[in-house]
Amino acid sequence: MLKRKVIMAIADGLGDRPNSSLGSKTPLEYARTPNLDHLATEGITGMMNPISSGIPVGTDMGHLILFGYQPQHYPGRGPIEALGIGMEIQPGDIVFRCNFATVDDNGIVVDRRAGRIREKTDQIAEVINGMELEKGVEVYFKQATEHRAVLCLRGEGLSDKISDSDPKAPNDGKPYHQVEALDSSAEAQRTADLVNLFLKKTHEILLSHPVNEERIAEGKLPANFILTRGAGQMAHLEPITQQLNLKGSCIAGEGTVLGVAQLAGYNAITDASMTGNIDTNIALKAHLTIEEIVNNDIVYVHLKAPDIKGHDNEPFEKAEAIELFDQMVGMILQDLPEDVYIALAADHSTPCEVGEHTGEPVPILIYGPSIRRDRIEQYNEIDCAHGGLGHLSGEEFVRTLHGLMGFS
Ligand SMILES: [Zn+2]
Repeated sequence: MLKRKVIMAIADGLGDRPNSSLGSKTPLEYARTPNLDHLATEGITGMMNPISSGIPVGTDMGHLILFGYQPQHYPGRGPIEALGIGMEIQPGDIVFRCNFATVDDNGIVVDRRAGRIREKTDQIAEVINGMELEKGVEVYFKQATEHRAVLCLRGEGLSDKISDSDPKAPNDGKPYHQVEALDSSAEAQRTADLVNLFLKKTHEILLSHPVNEERIAEGKLPANFILTRGAGQMAHLEPITQQLNLKGSCIAGEGTVLGVAQLAGYNAITDASMTGNIDTNIALKAHLTIEEIVNNDIVYVHLKAPDIKGHDNEPFEKAEAIELFDQMVGMILQDLPEDVYIALAADHSTPCEVGEHTGEPVPILIYGPSIRRDRIEQYNEIDCAHGGLGHLSGEEFVRTLHGLMGFS
């Protein structure tokens, strides 16, 4: 079968709504995007719901689907976060996302992010990693970016069916939650008890940790508590790359995306200059994309900034972030080999006026050899709704791409 390649450029949280401060245009309509519009003119467009209409997804689920899995394969946020920070996880491990937090003597969460701590969390993690909870249960703990961390419990007879201790935003000033079993199994009860013991023991240790004594002396909030959430069990997932016998890479600055990519069997490529914000190094991303497509069948390249600006309700800045995406795609286009498709997608909508992910579809596009052009000339939420691809689920979109590649 004829084999071709795909570069998929993903603008995180791209989808939006007409915004009054942009003259009733969406940030994508408002932004100057000559490269994206060129691809729309020469390619085929449509709309995509990652799962189905009206169902909002997280960045992890959205990417899981764009990388070729189905929603039921979702292993939980914890395992994905762990992969993203290079933590070794085994099937059966119970993995949690954590925050370094500040809790007062009465168990009230003063700050879920410990004053947005970003320094020396490795020294704090060091005293937690490997701690004794119970015979036969191993504790692994590693700091992630800023106030985040990952906890992994390894042992027989554990369950991920337990609740969060994190009261979640905006609940500073409320007590942390006791962890509870979410089903009636002995495994869930045991795991809930273990995590409650973990919370208590780590709090005792962290109260007198040198990093915290230093922080208090400097007038900063101490990281004296570990809040847990998103318990998940690492599943036996066959990498997509193995299922289809293809090779792929993913270039991104965000741990979540890199974690999903690794789960799916893709090489995860990053650099400190890929910041996950508007100051990210798009030239390097574009350069690596062209370099990686030479020896791979598919390359994903990700830009986080549009999502951040959507969450912050900054429509003008979101349009700027989209122009950055346009420039990155333009750089890739300059050196695009002949047998390679470019696909444009987003993992979900993050409308500025909402500030959260919503279940509205996102515009998609495919450009490349012998593609069935449609009559759409602009890449945005309004025009692409009339495009030749129609309205697809994420699964259908990815299957379409694999088909064009000759991998179906
Ligand atoms: Zn996202």
